[in-house]
Amino acid sequence: TASPSPLSDLSQEALSDLRRSLREEYEALKGRGLKLDMTRGKPAPEQLDLAAEMLALPGNRDTTAEDGTDARNYGNLQGLSETRALFAPVLGAPADQVVVANNSSLALMHDTLVYALLKGVPGGKGPWSKDTDIAFLCPVPGYDRHFTLCEGFGIRMIPIEMTGEGPDMDAVEAAVADPAVKGIWCVPQYSNPSGETYSEATVKRLAAMKTAAPDFRLMWDNAYVVHHLTDSRPQLANILDACAEAGHPDRAIVFASTSKVTIAGAGLALLASSPANVRWYLAQAGRRSIGPDKLNQLRHVRFLRDAAGIDAHMDQHRALIGPKFAAVEQAFSARLDGRDVARWSRPEGGYFVTLDVTDGTAGQVVSLAKEAGIALTPAGATHPYGRDPHDRTLRIAPTFPKLEEVRLAAEGVALCTLLAAVEKRIG
Ligand code: PLP
Repeated sequence: TASPSPLSDLSQEALSDLRRSLREEYEALKGRGLKLDMTRGKPAPEQLDLAAEMLALPGNRDTTAEDGTDARNYGNLQGLSETRALFAPVLGAPADQVVVANNSSLALMHDTLVYALLKGVPGGKGPWSKDTDIAFLCPVPGYDRHFTLCEGFGIRMIPIEMTGEGPDMDAVEAAVADPAVKGIWCVPQYSNPSGETYSEATVKRLAAMKTAAPDFRLMWDNAYVVHHLTDSRPQLANILDACAEAGHPDRAIVFASTSKVTIAGAGLALLASSPANVRWYLAQAGRRSIGPDKLNQLRHVRFLRDAAGIDAHMDQHRALIGPKFAAVEQAFSARLDGRDVARWSRPEGGYFVTLDVTDGTAGQVVSLAKEAGIALTPAGATHPYGRDPHDRTLRIAPTFPKLEEVRLAAEGVALCTLLAAVEKRIG
């Protein structure tokens, strides 16, 4: 058969024919009574099973940490030295600049923002909340929960377009000339949701740029640093080193977690930064808690062991989710190649595929999919305040459903994408 033509090459009559046949297919899809969910980037049960034996660790009598302390007791706010050593290479910081906390790096980011608002950060002139207007740069498409944090605390959000190598640095450098701009959200490797990794030039510019706010912070959320989907692994430049070299040692705060490595609801959250920022963070956190769950820290050390152990474990994840990403790619390209109605990412890691549909149809694609029993993240969720000015970007999360469900859902989404584009063209 001939390859599909771009919609712009089709006559009105051909467009109407195409619409009729797509509508028929769509009605048949609805008739199947599907109930599929592609909304949240959660690990599948089989992925959680990979860490099943961890639940028996550290074992009844194995609660003494390497420094001789009893991991069952209170204390050690910064985390066990063996756990910090395990994750130091992942974070790109020496172990004494690493903090290991309880589950949820989002909670660490939340607390960091709250402490900055109430107390200020090293190098600043006091609590951020004393200023009537403060703002954060938000690369788009981005992670909705970063945006919800800002919105919840009254931090104005300024969208910055992603370029394929990270945020548009000309726009970032122009924006940080405003002293109200206190920070930027970065998911530097396998970004949520575009999948892109910041180039070395982007990292260097973020580290070196002149900011009007002396206490500007890079919220470096490296959530997907070990979540590879290919053998070709992009080398993300070390942000802490780059900042120190550029004379801004306190600019970056690095976050990560084992939520999608071991157990999503019972992992470890990680923070790394300059010595001054780590002292500052621990001084604030010390009022909040006497110390973290160190049994979980020992459990992770016993289970993952070392960098090679983390790598081997992540390979098992890849074996489970790689085929799901491939199924999405296959379904999208089978339906949409050559039509010139959509673009999508082919991520080399992380948890998401970004689907950019025809401008002005993202909301329509989501409702068409919903009617056919396929739940997608609401259009706009990838943008601050839920507003995607082009009504274009959708985030597809293929990890949680079973492979066959992912395939069905992706085929359905591709059909809805083409149908919405055809109907928009017909008007
Ligand atoms: N950061 C990013 C970019 C994420 O995509 C997610 C989860 O989807 C999180 C943080 C949440 O991490 P945690 O489970 O450690 O709170």
